[in-house]
Amino acid sequence: MRYISTRGRAPELGFCDALLAGLATDGGLYVPQTWPSVSAPTTGSYADRAAAIMQPFIGSEIDAPTMLRLSREAYSSFRHPDVVPLVQIAPEHYLLELFHGPTLAFKDVALQLIGRLFDHVLSQRNQRVMIVGATSGDTGSAAIDGVKSCNNVDIVILYPRGRVSDVQRRQMTTVDAPNVHTVAIDGTFDDCQDLVKAMFNDAPFRDANNLSAVNSINWARVMAQTVYYFTALQALGRSATFSVPTGNFGNVLAGWIAKQMGAPIEKLIVGSNSNDILTRFFDTHAMQMTSVVPTLSPSMDIQVSSNFERLLFEMNDRDGGATAQQLDAFRAQGKMSVEPDQYASWIAPMFRAHRSDDAETLAVMKRMHNDHGMFVDPHTAVGIASAEHCAEPGVPTITLATAHPAKFPDAVKQATGVEPPLPEHLSDLMQRTERIVDLPNDLQAVEAFVAARQRR
Ligand SMILES: *Cc1c(COP(=O)(O)O)cnc(C)c1O
Repeated sequence: MRYISTRGRAPELGFCDALLAGLATDGGLYVPQTWPSVSAPTTGSYADRAAAIMQPFIGSEIDAPTMLRLSREAYSSFRHPDVVPLVQIAPEHYLLELFHGPTLAFKDVALQLIGRLFDHVLSQRNQRVMIVGATSGDTGSAAIDGVKSCNNVDIVILYPRGRVSDVQRRQMTTVDAPNVHTVAIDGTFDDCQDLVKAMFNDAPFRDANNLSAVNSINWARVMAQTVYYFTALQALGRSATFSVPTGNFGNVLAGWIAKQMGAPIEKLIVGSNSNDILTRFFDTHAMQMTSVVPTLSPSMDIQVSSNFERLLFEMNDRDGGATAQQLDAFRAQGKMSVEPDQYASWIAPMFRAHRSDDAETLAVMKRMHNDHGMFVDPHTAVGIASAEHCAEPGVPTITLATAHPAKFPDAVKQATGVEPPLPEHLSDLMQRTERIVDLPNDLQAVEAFVAARQRR
């Protein structure tokens, strides 16, 4: 399998190079040259089926026994025997619980595997990388946990001091591993992100320190997320619609790809919070940027959904030049429209969308607790509300439950009056020792810190 850039001007790569590159050199995102059709095995553990579903994307670059071993190692870190259990909440409505991994959010599904893929490829090539990233909460802890045992990877995660929850911070700062460094920046999340971008744009620094990224545009993350669409439909035993609480469009894109690979998916419901660039796109057929407002579901507080670029590339019949032009205009004008025929062929038959504001989100959380004695986190609640708005009679809906309620205790308490308990393996999180470095919002200081942390 070869990988091409959505902007058409970067070299084609194999799976391992696309994995390590993340972003293409022309600023585009890597996609496979074709969508393989897959007949997912119906027996075996989640890890075994995952390895088989992903193998066509990897080809011969990692052999099947090795892929099986890496997949088994990755998913043994999940605390549920089904890894991602399907739970019924209404006659035609199910939750797919994606939060049984080490850091309690669905990002573990991809990042537990990616850490192991990185380490495998790097050790074969006798290379090392330094992963740097910025986090507003969930990504940082999932990335740290995914690479904490990797011999060939160091990681520095920047977070805005005082602006992530105690649980989120402690999930990062209490990991005691020589290759993990959590840095509190005196600034906002945007400041952290700007520092990371500046480090990547500093070519001599980037090359001298072998910088790498595992953000949500990395192809392997999307790939790993296609798996649970197949396994959920197998558990259900019939076709279904999925409702996906969305930020960067990564998770819902994985559903669209699973459908291209042959999964019997009816429709994909795109759930947004008040940061509703996607909902407005479905209403107006135009993407228009606005500023970000903070909500109860912070992992979906985004201005632009970066993974939408991969769908846009398909809508342009895989014309990278046309896609690049459209995105340049979007950056310049803050707005981009798609043609009516593009919308009619690619969007209308497949997607539905709903925006859930904080009041509706809290109401869903409260109702789930009253009616089912069940805590749901605010992101999952956006997915449930969207499913209820967009579901069609006679078609079952599976809502992706993207975080454990204990990851967002304040919102859960606000909705239900009760604080959800942390699961067993994290019950002593608040007593563990933290390791934090404080740095100013200053590129030189951060670069000096990163350079000194590289193990040679
Ligand atoms: C990251 C995240 C999302 C959004 O996922 P995307 O792939 O960016 O759409 C939703 N819920 C939770 C809990 C998350 O951590």
